Amino acid sequence: MLSSFAAKFNTRATRLTADLEHRAKIRSALRSYEKARDEKKALFQDWEAARDGAATIKWEAVNHLDAYLGRFVEKLEARGTKVFWASNAQEARDYIVALAKEKGAHSIIKSKTMTSEEIHLNDSLRQAGYEVVESDLGEFIVQLREEAPYHLVFPAMHLTRTEISDLFHEKLHSAPTDNPEQLTMIARRELRLKYLRADIGISGANFGIAETGMISITENEGNARLTTALPRVHVALMGIEKVIPKLSDLALFLPMLATAGTGQQITCYNSLIGGPRQPDEPDGPAEFHLVLLDNGRTQLLADAEQRDALHCIRCGACLNVCPIFRNVGGHTYATTYQGPIGSVITPHLRGLMDWKHLSYASSLCGACTEVCPVKIDLHHHLLHNRRNAVARNPDKWERFAFRAFARLTANPGLLDKLVRLSRPFLPLVRAARQIMPPPIKGWLASRELPAIALRSFRNYWKSR
Ligand code: SF4
Repeated sequence: MLSSFAAKFNTRATRLTADLEHRAKIRSALRSYEKARDEKKALFQDWEAARDGAATIKWEAVNHLDAYLGRFVEKLEARGTKVFWASNAQEARDYIVALAKEKGAHSIIKSKTMTSEEIHLNDSLRQAGYEVVESDLGEFIVQLREEAPYHLVFPAMHLTRTEISDLFHEKLHSAPTDNPEQLTMIARRELRLKYLRADIGISGANFGIAETGMISITENEGNARLTTALPRVHVALMGIEKVIPKLSDLALFLPMLATAGTGQQITCYNSLIGGPRQPDEPDGPAEFHLVLLDNGRTQLLADAEQRDALHCIRCGACLNVCPIFRNVGGHTYATTYQGPIGSVITPHLRGLMDWKHLSYASSLCGACTEVCPVKIDLHHHLLHNRRNAVARNPDKWERFAFRAFARLTANPGLLDKLVRLSRPFLPLVRAARQIMPPPIKGWLASRELPAIALRSFRNYWKSR
């Protein structure tokens, strides 16, 4: 029995896979990325050694998470940061909404944070009466369209310049233009005013550095720097797995994230934030709140087999190479984290039985594992999720079918005989596919049932 999430996924995937225009858009959006990524990878002395190094640092951090988090928080608190531990999405939302109320806020500006998408923060803030504005250009565009980000790193990659121009014309009454610079200036004009009005700035964090008690934010537009510096109060929302041991680890992670994520040697703006404005500092927010989010991460941490999924630095490289993502697109997943990494962690974060279908949204080609800069064993984890789902709720018909299949394939003579016997019935099955009972009908719907060759390969081989 399919969950409602799986049924929706199947419907959307079927529609989008057949949408050649959508597929062409994604291919063209990724073409320049691929070229740039490979050029920047070549600038590393040894990309594979860098991946090993990054995986080792992440392993160290994740396997001693309690110690590193303790050190990280202690340092931040010593400089006046208010740290809140949120065990789930509701606690994180409640804390931030209550803070906005306490500060008498009206307007909130945000820089890109997938963690806030994970907890559906914007909806809660809006329901509580606050204006919430996304300041990252891609996020701003999808917010105007009232849709979720399409991709971890490129939220609006599914849109053409013309579509963005039409959107700005409709929502912001700007003159139509296909010029990227002019489109950016339209958004910039709109956003500058929002920064000045904002009472609270909300950001994510790419890394938390235990050694120095700082968060690191990496971005290309300078919007995160304004979000975290201009408003009176800054709130950073960070998953607990983002902590790394040392400041010097950034020397590896920042270029690596830029290379794998956007095909850059380094992103344009890299900020380190260690607390609110100190007495001897001329500017910065008066208050800095850090919300550390668990929301299922400790459960994943307890799973020794799949714990390395917490190494993820959200570069999006696995999405870009995934043949499924490139065909069905980001919105089809209906999850915060799309593509291979989303398919691995969503069942952990939101329930295995509702989201197990994502583990099958894979050709198991292994391209994701091959490109992952922190060496997460992505395609094997998809298999682990499949196994776990079957173990939790075995389907007796499925089990019967696979046992029968195993028996047959272990006995080629019998298989050959059966195939020969079934050959005359094939046209009949083809003609009757519409009236077959489920799940056979669904299985046949996307299959062509080509004619069976008169001679099997086995037979042909024998005769030679
Ligand atoms: S799993 Fe690896 S490739 Fe995918 S987003 Fe995370 S770090 Fe990047």
